[in-house]
Amino acid sequence: MSKLVQKQHVLIIEDSQATALLLKNYLNNMGYEEIHTCQTGKTGIDTFKDLVSAGSEPFVLLDFQLPDVDALSIMTQLLEIKPDVKVILQTATEKSDSGVTELIRQGLYQYLEKPIRFDKLKEIITILEEEKQILEKTPTTETLGTMDVFKEIDFLLKSHKQLSLTMIEQFVGGEKEKIDSYLKDLESQGKIVKLGNKKEISCDQCDSVKVTQTFFCPSCKETDFKLAKLIEHFNCGNFSEEADYEDNKCPKCKKEIKALGVDYRVLRDRYICKNCEEIFQELSFNFLCLKCENRFPIDEAKWKTSQFFKVTNM
Ligand SMILES: [Zn+2]
Ligand SMILES: [Zn+2]
Ligand SMILES: [Zn+2]
Repeated sequence: MSKLVQKQHVLIIEDSQATALLLKNYLNNMGYEEIHTCQTGKTGIDTFKDLVSAGSEPFVLLDFQLPDVDALSIMTQLLEIKPDVKVILQTATEKSDSGVTELIRQGLYQYLEKPIRFDKLKEIITILEEEKQILEKTPTTETLGTMDVFKEIDFLLKSHKQLSLTMIEQFVGGEKEKIDSYLKDLESQGKIVKLGNKKEISCDQCDSVKVTQTFFCPSCKETDFKLAKLIEHFNCGNFSEEADYEDNKCPKCKKEIKALGVDYRVLRDRYICKNCEEIFQELSFNFLCLKCENRFPIDEAKWKTSQFFKVTNM
C-alpha cells in the first residue's frame, strides 16, 4: 500500500509520553504528518482551539485518565469549540464504567481499549475518513445510485452500536422504501436486530437527531470539572478527594482514617468544579445540535419516535 500524505491534523491528548510516541509513530506510518501531542487536558484544549481557529479540523485521541481535567469536561469543551469534533477515547477502564458510558452517551466517536490494539485504531480511523468523504459530498437522491445508499447505511451502522431509523433516513436522505428493504435484508442476514420503537431527542430548530449533551457546573456554569472519589471524615467533617488523604491521614485534622463506614465514608462519582470548587453528584446539561449548532435545554427538546436497530455483526 502506498503511503498517502494526509493533510488531516490529529491531536493526541495523552499524559504517558511513551503511549503518545507510539501513537504518533503509528499515525506517521499511516501517512499523517500533522500530529500534535499534549500531555494535559488544559494544553490539549488550548491546542485544539488554536488548530480550529487556524482552519484545520483535527480529530482527537483522548486519554480517559488525565491528571488535570476530567475526560467528560474535555469532551464538553471540545464540543463547545467544534460541535462535530471526532473524539476517540483510549482507556483501560471498563466500557461499563459510568464515566465512560457518559462519554459514549455524549457523542464520543469511538472507544479504544488500552493496551491499544493498533489494527483496531486503524479500522476506526479508516471509517472516520470514509465518513468525512461521504459527508463532504452532501448526498441528494439524484446524485446517489442505489449502491451508494447501501454503502452509506453500512457505514452508519458500522460506526454506531445502535441507532434509529430517523437517524438513518436523515443521514441518507429520502429513499424510504430503499432504506426499509435494505434494513430488512440486513436483519434477515443477522447483521442487525430490531429493538422496537424508542424516543430520541431532536433539535427544536432543524429537526436533526444528531444532537449531543454538553455538561456544565450547576453553580457557575463553567465546563471545567473533574470526576472524583471523595472521602468524608465523620470525626471532623472533612469532605475532600481521596487523593488528599495521603497515607490515610485526614488533611484537616491530620488523624488517621480507620474503618470504612465507622469513622469515614467514600462517595464515588462526584464532580468537582475546577472553577468554583463546588461538589456535585450530577452536572447540569443541555443539548447541542451537531447540524445547526443550536443549543437548547431538555424542556425545549423535541422527541422523535422511531424503530431502533442494534448492530450485531457488521
Ligand atoms: Zn438543529
Ligand atoms: Zn478529619
Ligand atoms: Zn462551578
